[in-house]
Amino acid sequence: MTAEISVKELKGVGDKNAALLAKLGIFTVRDLLEYYPRAYDIFGLPENIAELREGTVAAIESIVPARPSVVKTPRYLIVSMNASDPTGTIKLVWYNTPFIASQLKTGMRFVFRGRVIRKRNELILAQPVIFTREAYIRKLSELQPVYPLTKGVTNNLLLKLVKEALTLVRADEDPLPAAARKQYDLIRYKDALQNIHFPLSKENCIDAHKRLAFDEFVRFSALVRTMKENRKIEVNNYRITDFSACEQLIASLPYKLTGAQKKVYAEICRDLSSDTLMSRMIQGDVGSGKTVVAMLAILACVKQGYQACIMAPTDVLAKQHYEDFTKQLTPFGIKTELLTGALTAAQKRKAHESIKAHECDVIVGTHALIQDSVEYDKLALAVIDEQHRFGVNQREAIREKGDHPHILAMSATPIPRSLAIILYGDLDLSIIDEMPANRLPIKNCVVGTGYRPTAYNFIKKQAAEGHQAYVICPMVEESEMTEAENVIDYTDSMRAAIADESVNIEFLHGKMKPAEKNAIMNDFSSGKIDVLVSTTVVEVGVNVPNATVMMVENAERFGLAQLHQLRGRVGRGSAQSYCIFIKGSDSKEIDERLDILVKYRDGMQVAENDLRLRGPGDFFGTRQSGELVFKIADIYSDADVLKAATEYAGSMTREELLCFSRTQTNNWII
Ligand code: ADP
Ligand code: MG
Repeated sequence: MTAEISVKELKGVGDKNAALLAKLGIFTVRDLLEYYPRAYDIFGLPENIAELREGTVAAIESIVPARPSVVKTPRYLIVSMNASDPTGTIKLVWYNTPFIASQLKTGMRFVFRGRVIRKRNELILAQPVIFTREAYIRKLSELQPVYPLTKGVTNNLLLKLVKEALTLVRADEDPLPAAARKQYDLIRYKDALQNIHFPLSKENCIDAHKRLAFDEFVRFSALVRTMKENRKIEVNNYRITDFSACEQLIASLPYKLTGAQKKVYAEICRDLSSDTLMSRMIQGDVGSGKTVVAMLAILACVKQGYQACIMAPTDVLAKQHYEDFTKQLTPFGIKTELLTGALTAAQKRKAHESIKAHECDVIVGTHALIQDSVEYDKLALAVIDEQHRFGVNQREAIREKGDHPHILAMSATPIPRSLAIILYGDLDLSIIDEMPANRLPIKNCVVGTGYRPTAYNFIKKQAAEGHQAYVICPMVEESEMTEAENVIDYTDSMRAAIADESVNIEFLHGKMKPAEKNAIMNDFSSGKIDVLVSTTVVEVGVNVPNATVMMVENAERFGLAQLHQLRGRVGRGSAQSYCIFIKGSDSKEIDERLDILVKYRDGMQVAENDLRLRGPGDFFGTRQSGELVFKIADIYSDADVLKAATEYAGSMTREELLCFSRTQTNNWII
């Protein structure tokens, strides 16, 4: 019996599907079972065409009036037909699925279900799934799992594979003993897996969620405990005593440090000069100025002859830090090196050599910093920026790099202190709870899609005044087109709508080559680009103080924490900034939720009110994304489960903890 069975053992997974699944991070049967649905679809009765609302997923019923039209463009093959009912007509459109045409025989009646979107100012039903009336009626009250997809992997494929994978889980083995399940009112492990993918009811799904979140928290808590126990022995071999260069840097800044920054800087100085190694987490809202504090710590270490590194979650952010650090630290005779996946093999080799030979003092990079091939020379400090984007394991990996350096982690995730202490038990906590004084509060508005032309005009005016704007496209859910195509499409229509050559609109998406991304980000930073249309790639840490507008399309599809992060990209300079949240569909719940962003400026308050509104255990709404590394648990809405799991993990012996993680990977049948 082996713990991790490859997905290739499943019927229907050959090399091709295995490669596609790998793109979703699914390599083993266990990965597949833990690939939880993003949401559950509830099929509603077909609606009247005249009453369809943009942004919603809806079903309509219609006869195929004539042979569908098939049009080829360089990028797509588009099949379309007009559907009608007594209330109106709507165009149905399929992209790159030519076989659809042969299914649509004139005179046949079908139910079509897809997303209502706006294209060239008319509503269309995009990529609808086709059902016979009987088949549709059978689906009516079922909860259908909706998985995050990638090109080539359909929801149906995942559904089929998960069903098969579930047959490999033994019902009689459970990492939690019956007594613990009873005490914390938890269902069995296998039932939880079954019900999270294929719930028979909402309640059913809530129970499954609770059980799986509990397990995740226990595992997390166990890890934190082990780290804490290991930590006591860590002696500070890199004692820093001279902070005079830091004082010089502070004096040379174009602004004064805030009281909170000074406080945290003092805490860091104390750590660096003490007997034990530093393990500190700085928590501070977006834009609170964490980078400069990290830079001070780095400067102190390298001035004493050591190396220091800073790891960022994206190439774009690493590049930006690199430029910032080079500019600020070169006057101190310090050499900064960049190490990211975007470098060519030759550049990487050169960077590796320079690091090993200690020709550079500060190394800025991404995950590339923790690869085996990187050898540091006297690495005294590792800074992890946006640490919630890295796993605990990566945090550990950087600790193991060099010879146990000081660790400084930074995060903008607003977590109440009480929770942070549980979650980051291995780290001391510093909080930057004050914003630089030169900031004007960001002006927010939540508006419908009808406001789009006004927003475009506003952006045009801001650009004319020399400011810049971000526009965030929604993520594409259906396989209607890829994320990249969507961003390009949006950019084209925005260019057409703005119709002004002097406004330079460019786009950025996750599938672009790192070099292309960097070029675009550079041009945006330097002001060559006025409007940057992108996916949420910019969410993380990017700093362009001249940007004054953040416009988010389909804001209702994002979590509030994520929207707050996006908002943090503007309001970084002294000019007035604006946030325009466009909602693609209308409902009281959506209004209430987005209203929180208008009412509260502080990330912590946003999180707390979001939780109050959603209520514990509500995960049918938009899931908070980007929080730590949990696949299913949500530290806000599952706060009660977190407390229970931490209590339970605390009562386990070391052997039980080990056994827990072992049985969780061992109860698969080959
Ligand atoms: P974050 O905490 O989100 O990482 P950054 O460190 O990127 O924020 O800082 C955001 C912006 O604020 C930067 O342009 C930085 O130069 C500026 N900044 C940092 N500290 C101060 C301060 N005390 N006063 C004014 N501006 C500051
Ligand atoms: Mg930052």
